[in-house]
Amino acid sequence: MKAVFCAGCQAKMSVDEVALNQRLLGMQIGSFFCVTCLAGRLGTTPKHLQTLIVRFKEMGCAYFTRLMEESSDEKTNDRM
Ligand SMILES: [Zn+2]
Repeated sequence: MKAVFCAGCQAKMSVDEVALNQRLLGMQIGSFFCVTCLAGRLGTTPKHLQTLIVRFKEMGCAYFTRLMEESSDEKTNDRM
C-alpha cells in the first residue's frame, strides 16, 4: 500500500487511519486526515477515534479487514 499523508498536517498516516477515514467519510473521498485533524473536523477527540478504530476492527469491519488481508490473500473465497 502506498504512503498516505494527512491533508491537514502532512503527517504520514497508518493503514488504520486510512481505513477509519473510509469508514466514516466514504470510499470516494479524495483526501485523508490523521486522527488529530479528523477529530477536529468531526468535533470529537483523537482518543475517541482511536477507540473507534479498535471497535471497528473487533466488529470485523470490511474496511479494516480488507486492508489487513491485502498482503496475505492466499485463499480465494469470493463466492457470493
Ligand atoms: Zn493531520
